[in-house]
Amino acid sequence: MLAAIDVRDLMGRPGASREEPVVGTVEGLATELARVPEDAPIRADLVLESLVEGILVSGHVGGRWSLRCARCLVEFEQPFHLDLDELFVRHPDEGADAYPLGPEGQLDPDQMIRDVVGVEMPFSPLCRSDCQGLCATCGGNRNEGECPGHAEFDHRFAVLADLFPDLPDLD
Ligand SMILES: [Zn+2]
Ligand SMILES: [Zn+2]
Repeated sequence: MLAAIDVRDLMGRPGASREEPVVGTVEGLATELARVPEDAPIRADLVLESLVEGILVSGHVGGRWSLRCARCLVEFEQPFHLDLDELFVRHPDEGADAYPLGPEGQLDPDQMIRDVVGVEMPFSPLCRSDCQGLCATCGGNRNEGECPGHAEFDHRFAVLADLFPDLPDLD
């Protein structure tokens, strides 16, 4: 959980701005093949700028995520670095693209960072662009040559065996 930022010094002072570094952990950021480990701190370097309608937050957020290759299922880690540019207002309209400012002038960056990172999490990560994936016959990792000595299973033979169940075994 990231701590809320007190922005009373910026409220009602359009044009005023300041920098605000934010460091902390964000829980529950995970999809099927990607997650931000809960012990991996996220760092955001934010610029808070006072506008007539609220506070504009820009800057970048960085950390590392733990990914599982969609082809060979090996886990690996990767740093990420994302830009953000979001508006906080006192009373966001329903469906508006803005986050709420707290009544005491608090700006809570947690949901914003969760959204910015969550939407960029790789949907189909690859350990490397030419990952060979797993062997369809034995499940070995083909990147590591784990299945020497046997040919890839040929699906045409499987179809033949289904059509002619009385045929002697093909292997
Ligand atoms: Zn892979
Ligand atoms: Zn194999």
